Amino acid sequence: MIEKACLKCKRIVTGKQCPICKTSKLSTKWKGLLIILDAKESKIAEKMNLTEGKYALKVK
Ligand SMILES: [Zn+2]
Repeated sequence: MIEKACLKCKRIVTGKQCPICKTSKLSTKWKGLLIILDAKESKIAEKMNLTEGKYALKVK
């Protein structure tokens, strides 16, 4: 399955729309991978207001 990145929140999505923003604006042109395992323990997640999941660092 192709992994796409949401243009809005940068979450890596495998379906047709982002489960967070409910947008279908997804891009296959993304670079870098940020994995948030525990949002409560992660300072990056706290700073960027992210929940658990995979995120792209750059989305075109
Ligand atoms: Zn999104």
